[in-house]
Amino acid sequence: MAQEFDVLVIGGGPAGYVAAIRAAQLGLKTACCESNPYADPKGQPRLGGTCLNVGCIPSKALLHSSELFDHANHAFIMHGIKAEGVEIDVPSMIRRKDNIVTQLVSGIKGLFKKYKVTFLAGHGSFVADADGMWKMKVGDGEVIAKHVIIATGSSARHLSGIPVDNVQIVDNEGALQIDAVPKRLGVIGAGVIGLEMGSVWKRLGSEVTILEALPDFLAAADQAVAKEAWKVFTNKQGLKIYLGVQIKEVTTSPAGVSVKFEDDNGEQLLECDKLVVAVGRVPNTDGLNAQAVGLQFDQRGHVEVDGHCSTNLRNVWAVGDVVRGPMLAHKGMEEGVMVAECIAGQAGHVNYDAIPWVIYTHPEIAWVGKTEQELKAAGIPFKQGQIPFLANGRALGQGDTTGFVKVLAHAETDQILGAHIIGTNASELIGEAVLAIEFGASSEDIARTSHAHPTLSEVMHEAALAVDKRSLHF
Ligand code: FAD
Ligand code: NAD
Repeated sequence: MAQEFDVLVIGGGPAGYVAAIRAAQLGLKTACCESNPYADPKGQPRLGGTCLNVGCIPSKALLHSSELFDHANHAFIMHGIKAEGVEIDVPSMIRRKDNIVTQLVSGIKGLFKKYKVTFLAGHGSFVADADGMWKMKVGDGEVIAKHVIIATGSSARHLSGIPVDNVQIVDNEGALQIDAVPKRLGVIGAGVIGLEMGSVWKRLGSEVTILEALPDFLAAADQAVAKEAWKVFTNKQGLKIYLGVQIKEVTTSPAGVSVKFEDDNGEQLLECDKLVVAVGRVPNTDGLNAQAVGLQFDQRGHVEVDGHCSTNLRNVWAVGDVVRGPMLAHKGMEEGVMVAECIAGQAGHVNYDAIPWVIYTHPEIAWVGKTEQELKAAGIPFKQGQIPFLANGRALGQGDTTGFVKVLAHAETDQILGAHIIGTNASELIGEAVLAIEFGASSEDIARTSHAHPTLSEVMHEAALAVDKRSLHF
């Protein structure tokens, strides 16, 4: 006898588990199925998806550990703290990261219990449209659902001729399990993962070389931020980054990995002990039996959806990395909430103009809204205020004054169109600008808001004041 639900969510990553919790909160009888091959402490497939298991959470744990190591070696001394013979115990660092992951992954099962979401262990796929309901297969069983939310996420993109074994040549999964500091680490792709993982191992002592296909560094970021980041990462921190690269051949031997590549200087060879492949991600759409029900995909292989994440099929929705838009956990969560609310008859909505981006390097990079180059290309008149952390008392006290905050506002209405930060704690500071954009605030609104002193947030305040050329401390 098939179990029947109002909503079946396929995939228990951030987009899926949040959609399931919100749907259940709204009184819908909800199930979420998950087929992660790795088991949680109860022996069931792990919830949490890429983000909790092999993405956001473990990478940030390693970034923090490696930053502490770096501080102990290079920053303590300016505070008069002498730390000699500091060593890194990589297996302990990895174990700590694994424990954090296990704790959070298990926590979602607890949330499911609390909100009465039925967890179904197994792979979910479509069987047929059955009298206005969807007949679905989950594992070996059958489920009938009125609404289906596809939240199957994404997987690392691999390159042909570069076999990932997650030992010598690794993607995000292997990069989070490296158990000793490689002397020489190669990375293909100077995107978010390349920079974050490159930073971890550089701080721990690896010689890190990143090979990027595009001629521009961090092309999606505001170019002022990208320029500053390039200076800090290459000149100050010693990351070797090659741009405009074409990978020719990758070979492995017990001695390591050889990467033949070409750039403006001709053919070159990179010899490394491990190679990280971080060239983007592809949506997980295989195995849904989509053809049987006529589910449509867009040109890039994502499930095609409208602005409310509704697919071409009645009562079938799709959220998170499997659909268009940035592959970010918080974007997927917002979509999950929107869809659950739409199903419940409410006015679910996502403001795609107010989704923040963060790169958790040091300094951190964070932005929301439009970049200066986007505004110029669109012919939108704007004014800007840019203030460095250098003049901020808190940043000086912390010994961390790299970077700046840049606020872009409409030249006529003063509405904030974008905010761009490179600097310490940028990931937290960007929240104020996200809220400002969500509320349609003007730069004057931030300028007239009291900011605690002494805090890093005063740099955002000063940047907003600077939009009107009236900064007080710079
Ligand atoms: P996923 O998290 O991929 O979850 C999909 C789930 O569906 C998986 O558990 C999968 O097993 C399951 N599944 C797939 N098919 C089926 C099926 N047919 N039946 C049952 N289950 C199925 N984003 C941020 O916002 N901040 C960060 O700091 C950040 N850091 C990252 C670091 C790394 C190294 C990586 C790789 C990604 C990072 N991301 C980050 C991106 C973030 O992880 C993703 O955007 C997010 O996980 C997407 O959520 P999702 O629920 O759409 O998909
Ligand atoms: P990415 O899109 O950020 O970067 C991939 C980079 O690889 C790009 O710069 C691209 O030009 C380059 N590239 C592509 N093909 C190449 C080739 N053949 N040779 C050399 N370079 C090549 O992708 P990613 O770093 O793999 O991360 C995947 C996604 O995961 C990100 O887009 C992001 O959505 C998410 N993520 C987010 C965070 C965060 O929010 N802090 C962290 C990690 C990952």
